[in-house]
Amino acid sequence: MALPPAEDPRFRTGDLLDRHGRTARDLRVSLTDRCTLRCHYCMPPEGLPWLEDSAVLTDGEIIRLVRLAVTDLGIREVRFTGGEPLLRKGLEDIVAATARLRTPDGRPVRTSLTTNGLGLARRARALAAAGLTRVNVSLDTLRADRFARITRRDRHADVLAGLAAAAEAGLAPVKVNAVLLRGTNDDEAADLLRWALEHGYRLRFIEQMPLDPHGSWQRSDMVTADEILAALQREFTLAAQPGSARGAAPAQTWDVLDAAGARVGDVGVIASVTRPFCGDCDRTRLTADGQVRTCLFSTTETDLRTALRAGADDAALGAAWRAAMWGKLPGHAIDDPSFLHPTRPMSAIGG
Ligand code: SAM
Ligand code: SF4
Repeated sequence: MALPPAEDPRFRTGDLLDRHGRTARDLRVSLTDRCTLRCHYCMPPEGLPWLEDSAVLTDGEIIRLVRLAVTDLGIREVRFTGGEPLLRKGLEDIVAATARLRTPDGRPVRTSLTTNGLGLARRARALAAAGLTRVNVSLDTLRADRFARITRRDRHADVLAGLAAAAEAGLAPVKVNAVLLRGTNDDEAADLLRWALEHGYRLRFIEQMPLDPHGSWQRSDMVTADEILAALQREFTLAAQPGSARGAAPAQTWDVLDAAGARVGDVGVIASVTRPFCGDCDRTRLTADGQVRTCLFSTTETDLRTALRAGADDAALGAAWRAAMWGKLPGHAIDDPSFLHPTRPMSAIGG
């Protein structure tokens, strides 16, 4: 893929541009494809064919690529994900090295973690000390029996303990991600919001996307943003946030108001399927095995690991990353009959 034309003034900034006018500022780094849970919309019970250890980037390799992205390529925010990023022993070191980075204009980089929360109770304090700014913890249900059915593991209490520890450690605002599944937990939208408001967590619902490994996603089964909002509005007063143009943020957010009209919190819905935000997307992704992806739904990847291990310098790696991003497609086209499922499931890309 060619780079942007050299006469384009934006070319000289080093930023990760694409030919549709977007600039990547937000890097999602997957630290592993493995996981401690088996959420049935994400992984089969037996797990997946995991990456070989030798294929996974070392801590040093990850830190080198994150540094390149922040110091040379215009990245301002780094989110670590997986699989389950808490499985990575060197997570605190990776976070600390990232938190020490500065953007070219001297700003600290924002660091965050998306996690299922297992083991977070033990590590939240160390992660905060390492410089982690905030966490998103995934929790789809308030009921332990449902949690065990959805994730195939009886660990609901560990997630709640992880959330409490994150808040205690100051990893604020603590966000909670929830996927509603028809016939499983789609009656819990209002309960989840009430609970999140009580605990000071910021709840974000995510529409289920066609990223399951078995290809069983059906649009007609998916709980839509409209349905989620309708369920919430039966019990809460929601007000669009003033000037709530979403920009590059994937969630559309609403203020939650009490009976007197006072704001008591907010709630977001990430409607990637029914209200795609591709036109404003500012993401670039690095998989655990060192492949750049321009989108969750990409069907192609750019291999940085081979070049890195062959001794490529920063200029060459940066050029490869920029060339990959220049080829980013305008949108994921989930709604188009020609839509192709990505070759990797969500857990192997980094959600
Ligand atoms: N294991 C961590 C976790 O669960 O937070 C990080 C990786 S997980 C892939 C990131 C997020 O993606 C979770 O909130 C999960 O619920 C969500 N997710 C997984 N599969 C999904 C799908 N098919 N559609 C929408 N969200 C999905
Ligand atoms: Fe693991 Fe997260 Fe996938 Fe659940 S959603 S199986 S916690 S990677």
